[in-house]
Amino acid sequence: MSGWSLEDAIAIAGGPAGPHTCFEALPPQDFDCVAENLQVFNLHLEQIAREAVARGAAPPFDWAIALTASSSLACTVRRLEERYAILVPIGAVARIRMMARLLLSYWHVENPPRVIRSPVDAIEDGTESVPPLLRGLFVEDVDMAELRLGLLVLDRVIKLDPVFEPDVRELTHLAVTWLITHEFTHVLHGHFDVLAAAGDERRDRLLRGCELDADDGATAISLLVMDRAVRMASALGQEASMDTGLLRLGYAVTMLLGMFDVVRKHFPAYAHGAYNHPLLRCELFFSAIDRAVQEPPEVKATFLHSVTEGWKRCIHAYDMLTVEAMAGRFGSLPPGRHPAPLHAMLYGVLGGPTDTALRGLMAEAGTLLTEIRAQLPAFQHGGGSEPA
Ligand SMILES: [Zn+2]
Repeated sequence: MSGWSLEDAIAIAGGPAGPHTCFEALPPQDFDCVAENLQVFNLHLEQIAREAVARGAAPPFDWAIALTASSSLACTVRRLEERYAILVPIGAVARIRMMARLLLSYWHVENPPRVIRSPVDAIEDGTESVPPLLRGLFVEDVDMAELRLGLLVLDRVIKLDPVFEPDVRELTHLAVTWLITHEFTHVLHGHFDVLAAAGDERRDRLLRGCELDADDGATAISLLVMDRAVRMASALGQEASMDTGLLRLGYAVTMLLGMFDVVRKHFPAYAHGAYNHPLLRCELFFSAIDRAVQEPPEVKATFLHSVTEGWKRCIHAYDMLTVEAMAGRFGSLPPGRHPAPLHAMLYGVLGGPTDTALRGLMAEAGTLLTEIRAQLPAFQHGGGSEPA
């Protein structure tokens, strides 16, 4: 626990973000929309926390969500004196929004080419392989000035029909809230206490397990909130459907994971450290969806079809992006560098050794998740803390 106040935590993370912090990449009206959506979303988190406390799965706790003037893609959660601070960089929101605009611009491409690379191959790593115009999307280490300029220039080359604007807003919201629910799960499931009590030799393994659990919780909570929001909208006579929501969720999470860890694209690069390979995290997202959907078989089948369709459309768009990067649309690279693959979502080869490696990693992750949950207070009373 730090002795920081919420204001300290926000200041250390870059200061508070306002409508003009990142205005070229996130126009003020979009900033207001994001801030308002987060307020509504937080009401759902409050209800989830109240329910968890009522059934004894978590002690009462308080938190605040703050948008910070940081260019980073990574959300964080900090334990303060009396509450937790979930810090969301405005740079992450702007990057996600621009990535949604870029990928959706390929929506009508029929029969997109496939990028055939396997994550078991040794793949050249390093940010030098990211074309100049895509650095603002994929490279973590860019400052706010570079991010703002980079996204502004990129925005000018994106040709997106305005009819997609609601989809851009919704994909941005779903990706950002998935990031927030990941951080929220760290708090809800008691990860801070478990990690604080662990000795150095166990800490790395516990941390990796907690990250798996946080992804799993993020997916379960995202689904629960979507279900409640759709029911609420239907009750008010507004148009809303779980199928459209799930298609967008599948697209948003796949898109988001594709933006992570652009400097590490093959499986062996993730042998150590807190996180698993983004492609593995994406597969585990589908496992979490499969477990979280509590519907009759025929309804569940349509839900799973929708979320898979979102994933498929996103992967096709990522393949198109790679092909256009190879054609030089986003600027040229230093001699000896090649833009493919751009990201770690390497679904082009799924068979043979790739399949064997992926299944092995999935089994390892499943074992670790079970092991971690046996130690988490949230899962000590039989039912776990996953939202019902
Ligand atoms: Zn985490």
